[in-house]
Amino acid sequence: MMRPHARRPPAKKRFGQHFLEPVWVNKLVRAIGPRADEDFIEIGAGHGALTWPLAERTRRVTAFEIDEDLAPGLRARAPGNVTVVAGDFLEQVFSDLDLQEFGQVRVAANLPYNVAAPILFRLLDLATRGLRIGDATVMLQREVADRLIAPPGSREYGVLSVLVQHQADVERLLALPPGAFRPSPKVQSAVVRLRFHPPQPPVSDRRVFRGIVQSVFTRRRKTMSNAIRAYGEKATLPAWLDGSRRPETLSVAEFARLADDFAT
Ligand code: SAM
Repeated sequence: MMRPHARRPPAKKRFGQHFLEPVWVNKLVRAIGPRADEDFIEIGAGHGALTWPLAERTRRVTAFEIDEDLAPGLRARAPGNVTVVAGDFLEQVFSDLDLQEFGQVRVAANLPYNVAAPILFRLLDLATRGLRIGDATVMLQREVADRLIAPPGSREYGVLSVLVQHQADVERLLALPPGAFRPSPKVQSAVVRLRFHPPQPPVSDRRVFRGIVQSVFTRRRKTMSNAIRAYGEKATLPAWLDGSRRPETLSVAEFARLADDFAT
């Protein structure tokens, strides 16, 4: 008897390949709740476990896959409403026109865990540049999901929490054991939904906002008076901010206000 995955190339660790088992695909699809009039972007299509059910239920799926051994097979099996884009999602060049042409999209992904955070940052960038992302339902390592949801003052609160929560409401939908994947990862997984919204509160210069957040969290155990110097050697805090606070106690709104003080 032929084994179900007999002709598949071995999973590649460097691409974070952990393929979802069918019973969990169904749960994930239910959690996503795709509709017939929707267009999807999928990041990391693998063997199409999620791509095909999405294609059956929606208008259009644009599926990105980095692995050159997988992309041709996907393309060969793709129904008419699926476009397979071979290549690294992080390296894709999207012109403003490309972003407009996508129209309103939803994102779905069983993310490669080694690059989950950069992919989320890329989605934030694309949203800022005009890609109209309604939401992104993504599978992640549980620890990363915890960081996405973390409130100020918690141990997990950091760069990912602040930058993502600035542009999206985050909700945890599912928890998955290692056995939900083949090969099984060593970690627990979770599915979260990011509902995108305009940056809240708005910031006058997003690069300054991001730069400050990334800098001060390199010194998360220090006080803000000290941590801000990771952003600029001579940087000092505005009077409204108590310099004895630690970076992890600042709310997203406070980071935004601080960034605006630096930007002007
Ligand atoms: N969607 C499939 C599933 O659920 O079974 C595969 C999920 S697997 C965790 C992640 C997939 O993302 C792999 O197929 C991997 O080759 C692909 N991948 C990894 N890095 C990528 C990148 N930077 N851009 C696009 N695809 C990537």
